[in-house]
Amino acid sequence: METSMDSTRTSPAAPTDAADAKRWLDSLAKLYPVPDPHRVENVDRTQALEILRCGPAVFEELLASGLPHGEGQSGVVFDRHDLINLALHSGSGLSMPERAVRYALRWMREDPTQWATPLEWTFHIELSCVRGEECGGGSSFAHTRLLPEINGGAIREWTSDRPVRIDEQDITMSGPGPVQLSGRLRTEGRLMRLRSPQLRAITKDFIDVGYRWAQLPKAVQADYTTVMAYGVAPCFAASLFLENEYRAAGYQAISRSGWILGMLDLVHAWVEVVDDDGVTKSVDVIFDPLSRHAEDAHPELPQAALGSRVNRILQTAAAADVPHTGHTCGDGQTGVPQTRTVIRRVGKR
Ligand SMILES: [Zn+2]
Repeated sequence: METSMDSTRTSPAAPTDAADAKRWLDSLAKLYPVPDPHRVENVDRTQALEILRCGPAVFEELLASGLPHGEGQSGVVFDRHDLINLALHSGSGLSMPERAVRYALRWMREDPTQWATPLEWTFHIELSCVRGEECGGGSSFAHTRLLPEINGGAIREWTSDRPVRIDEQDITMSGPGPVQLSGRLRTEGRLMRLRSPQLRAITKDFIDVGYRWAQLPKAVQADYTTVMAYGVAPCFAASLFLENEYRAAGYQAISRSGWILGMLDLVHAWVEVVDDDGVTKSVDVIFDPLSRHAEDAHPELPQAALGSRVNRILQTAAAADVPHTGHTCGDGQTGVPQTRTVIRRVGKR
């Protein structure tokens, strides 16, 4: 894919450049910019060019055509989510977000029958306070529980470098930070289908709209009706919407959040619903739009994701609208801790 793209670049430049610019401008026309007050404009021009890799000429055109930006101390500044979504729908194949997502989703080439294979992973989570030394003693850090057992997997072993308290939702570790939690877990899966005609119809209605996938802050997605009115349905918004629809039809459903595991772990959300056969099925409507950002995704993947348990998914105790982490400083101030999460497949590079 990249080779053929590079070879077109050696042919006469003008038509390719025009086509390039058009692709980027089309993507800009469809962009759903992060709304206020959730915008964080802290990416400068140089960084933006590194993310987009569209070249300065196209970048100027984007700016002139209304790419949302603010004015920083040394020039224009952008919101990172805007740049990522602009790149993801540019079709350039060269931008950093497109390459990163393609890399993270390499496993989507596999036949879904592979989803049932048990996989072993190590995990390492580090939480720290943005206030550093000022945080003080007596602080605490919470992280949602990892629940691979929902898909038939298990936490094999774990350890923390601080005293730990566990309840149904969270693992709470006493400070001072940074605090660490690490161990080893197994994921499993199972191919299943939704049986209920009603659940299938609700799901199909959603898919038929053809919503675009995008990366947006969770707080923006919480207002899912506003986001979806723009034709955009990121995973948290889609899960909250479907949870609501399934419940309205009389089914027991929960929007669940966790990760898609790979080399670059993607925070993700889907819905778990109790089907007519009494079995809880995972419905992941985002695999379909997401697989369009993968290279050679298996054609059966979108359908298989409507009911199956996937060994590439790690569940947490958190619903889609619940944060994964929390922190209380020594002086009682609460906030979101800085988090570093690394989950790696055992025996893989
Ligand atoms: Zn603190």
